[in-house]
Amino acid sequence: MSSCALLIVLAIVRTVDTDPVRVFFELLAEIISAIVLVWQCVVSSRAANVTRADVNRTLQSLPKSATDDLEKHTELDDFGRLELALNRISLDAVESRRKEKLLIERAVDVICVIDTDARIISINDACQKSWGYDRSSLIGSHLSTLLDSAESERVTKQILGGMQSIDKVVFESQLRAADGSQLDVVWTGHWSASEGGLFCIVHDISQQKLVEKAIRLSEQRLRDILESLPAAVLVADNADRIEFANRAATGLLGYHNDELSELTIADILAQSSGMGGPSTKQSSDAGSEALASTKGGATIAIALSRTRINMSDGEKLLCVFLDRRAEEELERTKRELTAMITHDLKSPLTAVQSIFSLLEDGICGELSQHGLQLIGTSRKQLNNIVRLLDDMLQVASIDAGSFELRCAEVSLHDVVLDAVETVRATAPDRTFVIDSDTAPMIAMADKQRLSQVLVNLLTNAVKYSLPKSPITVTLQRNGNTATLSIIDLGRGIPPEKLDCIFERFTQVEHSDATDKGGYGLGLAICKEIVQSHGGEIGVRSEVGKGSTFWFSLPLTVSQ
Ligand code: ADP
Repeated sequence: MSSCALLIVLAIVRTVDTDPVRVFFELLAEIISAIVLVWQCVVSSRAANVTRADVNRTLQSLPKSATDDLEKHTELDDFGRLELALNRISLDAVESRRKEKLLIERAVDVICVIDTDARIISINDACQKSWGYDRSSLIGSHLSTLLDSAESERVTKQILGGMQSIDKVVFESQLRAADGSQLDVVWTGHWSASEGGLFCIVHDISQQKLVEKAIRLSEQRLRDILESLPAAVLVADNADRIEFANRAATGLLGYHNDELSELTIADILAQSSGMGGPSTKQSSDAGSEALASTKGGATIAIALSRTRINMSDGEKLLCVFLDRRAEEELERTKRELTAMITHDLKSPLTAVQSIFSLLEDGICGELSQHGLQLIGTSRKQLNNIVRLLDDMLQVASIDAGSFELRCAEVSLHDVVLDAVETVRATAPDRTFVIDSDTAPMIAMADKQRLSQVLVNLLTNAVKYSLPKSPITVTLQRNGNTATLSIIDLGRGIPPEKLDCIFERFTQVEHSDATDKGGYGLGLAICKEIVQSHGGEIGVRSEVGKGSTFWFSLPLTVSQ
């Protein structure tokens, strides 16, 4: 009796195994042998007149599902109850067998049993759908019919090895489908004594392999792109330890990849104004100036852009940087050229301007009408060149950051009156109208620069409108902001040019440079001056009807 109980307990303990199909098989076999044994016990017990205690012990050793509610059956004696419990177990066994069959038949994965000669003893219908083989054609055939010769030996070895192991075996292989295509599969096998072979579940992972291959390819492509970038790229983990460096980075810094992986970003890069990656809130900072330390101990000026990115394995810091040495060299050449223009070009031209004035004043005797005309034309050309040089010098000083304002309290009424008088002197026949709010308007400004803006806008109004048409200057106050507008009734500006008219060297007509003088730098300089005062500049215009150039300035708050 006790061996019978032991068998049943063994069967129950086995249910904790992880492979349900295998458990079905083995549980079933054990349950059936348990039933037979218990039956024999019952029969022999009756015959041998066993005690009630023996029967109760047996009942207690049976699964709970079989002995539930047995005490309700008061009409039965102990033997009757034992018989009922065993009936229940046998019904459960039949049900389990039915479910197991269904499970195997409906499984998506191929389930088969391979014998010790590596032949397929049984296989489910999934082999038709998954591999394209008719089930009956595979039963009895050797594994090698499904495998290429290179794989066959290895897989057979694994299968036979699985038969000698008490653990499950898991391995991958390729398998030839009926249409000749190669499938990637995972085998999971258990030795099954009741089946007399290795019970295998063969799971198709071809799709998964394809996805993995696509991911690997796209990773490789990304790596190739990063490697071929002219910009240096470093990627660091969230402790700033360098995980990746592209070719440009290792080339610039002089380190090998494995040396960089020992370092942090802070070991390599130092911001001109304090270091530290962008905070997690601020996910990127673009184009700041920084310094990079090379393995050789040199410090290189770089333009650095840092971005925090979330990747599948955590947050990373992406640093992209460019060697600024070539740019700095260019800047130096530009500065030298500007200095050359100032001293070597502008000074003699200014001297020639004075000589022209002296000639006009008759220092070399009275000039003929023709002589005066020639000098007048040459002077005009020379003035244009000197103006271009002045504009270029201003643009260069803006670019170099050396464009300084000398600010003081300035009355905007005064600036407007002065500028209008300056331009009226060059265009005496034009009508200038000043329309101004009477309230005083004081701005903290560089008077000379403000006047330069107004004179430029007024000169343009004169240049691009007909001689008889008036030019109006309005000065309005809105809270702590003053707005100055220069309104002409001239040719206007086409809509497509309005957005770019404040950009350097932009002119509406190519002929404007020769016909009207100027090279399209005046408005760009006006914009810089207005913006450096904390103001804004803009234009409204309609072709054929005229233009309104306006700019705003903050007023001092004490007014
Ligand atoms: P420029 O020195 O050539 O006048 P600006 O920068 O002052 O340079 O002006 C740029 C261009 O904008 C001019 O060449 C002209 O084509 C156009 N422009 C400027 N002001 C006016 C205006 N009031 N009416 C029409 N076009 C204008």
